[in-house]
Amino acid sequence: MTKRPSAAPSDRTRVRRTPEKAAYDRATVDAILDACPVAHVGYVLNGTPFVTPTLQWRIGDQVYWHGSAASRMLRTGEGAQVCLTVTITDGLLLARSGFEHSINYRSVMLFGQARLVDDAEAKTRHLQAMMDQMFPGRWPQLRPMTTQELKATTILSLTIDEASAKVSAGMPADPPEDKDWPVWAGVIPVCQTLGIPDQDPDNAKGLTLPLVRFG
Ligand SMILES: Cc1cc2nc3c(=O)[nH]c(=O)nc-3n(C[C@H](O)[C@H](O)[C@H](O)COP(=O)(O)OP(=O)(O)OC[C@H]3O[C@@H](n4cnc5c(N)ncnc54)[C@H](O)[C@@H]3O)c2cc1C
Repeated sequence: MTKRPSAAPSDRTRVRRTPEKAAYDRATVDAILDACPVAHVGYVLNGTPFVTPTLQWRIGDQVYWHGSAASRMLRTGEGAQVCLTVTITDGLLLARSGFEHSINYRSVMLFGQARLVDDAEAKTRHLQAMMDQMFPGRWPQLRPMTTQELKATTILSLTIDEASAKVSAGMPADPPEDKDWPVWAGVIPVCQTLGIPDQDPDNAKGLTLPLVRFG
C-alpha cells in the first residue's frame, strides 16, 4: 500500500505517537475500510463510554452501519459524536526483548456526527450495497425485504472527512545492541481466511454457493 502522508484533517485526528506510521489520504483510509467489514463504534451514554463491534460498509464518502431499531448503539449514535475504528492485523512481530514485541497492522479511526438514514428508498439501496459488497449478486436471489423488516432496521452514517490511518509494517525494531541476542526474531504473518462452507440441511437440492467477499 502506498503511504502518502499529508496533514491531519483536524487536531483530534493528528497522530502523535509514532507519526511516521500515519496517513490521512483517502486512498489509504478507503482501502483499509474496504478490506475489513468489522468495525468498532465508540460513543458515550450517560457518561459511560461504550465501544460496540459491528459491521460497516463504505459508499463513496460515507461509512454506514446498521442493526435493530432497538439497538442502544444505534439509538444513542443518532446525531451524536462517535468514533468508528477498523483494524486489520497483518503480523506478529517477535523481537529479541519483550519490550519490542509488536504487531503489524492497518487501522483507521473516523470521528464525526452520526446521521440517521431515514428515507426508505435510501435505506434499501444502502442495504443492497452492503449485501453486494459481501455477497456479489445475492440480493436479487433473496426473499424480498418486507416493509416491517425495513422499519425494524436502523442505518447510521458517518462522513469520511475526519479520518486518520496508521500502517505498521516491517521487522521488529530491536536496538542494535540486541541484534546478537540468541533468540528467534521476525514476523509471523496473520491472515483471515474463509473456511469450508457448512451447508444448512434444509437447503433444497442443487443450490449453488454464493460468491463471498470478506476482507
Ligand atoms: C492491532 C493493533 C495493536 C496495537 N497494539 C498496541 C499496544 O499494545 N500498545 C500500544 O500502545 N499501542 C498499540 N497499538 C497502537 C494504538 O492503536 C495507538 O496508535 C497507540 O497506542 C497510540 O495511542 P495514543 O492515544 O497515544 O495516540 P495518539 O497519537 O495520541 O492519537 C491521536 C490521534 O491519532 C489517531 N490514531 C491513533 N492511533 C491510531 C490508530 N491505531 N489507527 C488510526 N488512527 C490512530 C487518532 O485520530 C487519534 O485521535 C496497536 C494498534 C493496532 C491496530
